[in-house]
Amino acid sequence: MTFLSPRTLDEALEILDHRSDETVVIAGGTDVMIQHARSERPAQRMLHIEKLDDLRGVVCNGSARIGALTSHRTVAEHAELNEIFPSIATAAATVGGWQTQIAGTIGGNICNASPAADLAAPLLVHGAKLRLVSQNGERWIDLNDFFLGRRKTQRLPSELLAEIKLDLPPPRSRDVYLKVGRRSGMEVAIVGLALRLTLAEDLDTITDAHCAVCSVAPRPLRLDSIRAALIGASASKPPMPDLTAILLSSVSPIDDIRGSAGYRTAVLPRLLQRALGHCANGNSDRQGASS
Ligand SMILES: Cc1cc2nc3c(=O)[nH]c(=O)nc-3n(C[C@H](O)[C@H](O)[C@H](O)COP(=O)(O)OP(=O)(O)OC[C@H]3O[C@@H](n4cnc5c(N)ncnc54)[C@H](O)[C@@H]3O)c2cc1C
Repeated sequence: MTFLSPRTLDEALEILDHRSDETVVIAGGTDVMIQHARSERPAQRMLHIEKLDDLRGVVCNGSARIGALTSHRTVAEHAELNEIFPSIATAAATVGGWQTQIAGTIGGNICNASPAADLAAPLLVHGAKLRLVSQNGERWIDLNDFFLGRRKTQRLPSELLAEIKLDLPPPRSRDVYLKVGRRSGMEVAIVGLALRLTLAEDLDTITDAHCAVCSVAPRPLRLDSIRAALIGASASKPPMPDLTAILLSSVSPIDDIRGSAGYRTAVLPRLLQRALGHCANGNSDRQGASS
């Protein structure tokens, strides 16, 4: 196997442009190396992008831009992200243990496209846009359009994910990410749910809502039907029977080694209710995980 580790983005894109179908991009390697060891992704060439410092870092200035190579630990500890996008910082703090958070990147979490990717749900509720670059230039794509299925995305083999862009939430917005795992660390989500509510001046009527889930469908899902049911509702007295019916008709949980479909179905509406309570009361669940 050829292992290539360029120092500039131009060099990386040139390498990727040539025999891109045979080349596996590797950032932190916390997914790729496991897949490689299991022979799930036999690679003739590995393109290691960790030295591309241009793709690393967070800038909050009218909007937020997070470089694809930014580690989960950096996201979890970033003061402005914690202040403006608490659900995203919380999700990053729940990815594996510290070693995984230090090596693993936000871009890798998105491009790996696991149905259980923790960062996907909070990024979906914040309407994240992705900048993909190649030798042919760049293009922007909504995260919701990016995911096609389990480990399937709209990324072309010749493209790298460069950054994630987030608009600032409207005033009186509150967001939370809740994750159910068998223990509070080192555990991939059995169910994950992110919610962002925007409230009217009475701080109860919901004027806008975004909800997304992971680990209950072949891909992380943004639930637009939940949004429609929440707009105009009371945050403190949400229509839970209607919301539960909509929620369960939108997902397709499966049995796997982490949990059964029945357990996921039972837990999901309670997670939504808890998330609504957190947003209604103005506090986010900074614990992230629960058991
Ligand atoms: C012990 C352990 C615990 C874990 N726990 C969790 C958890 O709780 N929650 C969770 O969501 N995940 C978890 N993971 C999975 C993993 O850590 C994350 O998905 C991580 O964010 C992947 O980032 P990475 O940089 O290591 O990606 P890599 O493994 O380097 O790459 C992942 C995929 O993305 C592609 N890729 C990476 N960066 C780019 C880029 N910039 N442009 C184009 N393609 C790119 C690669 O080709 C590959 O397909 C865990 C992994 C381990 C080993």
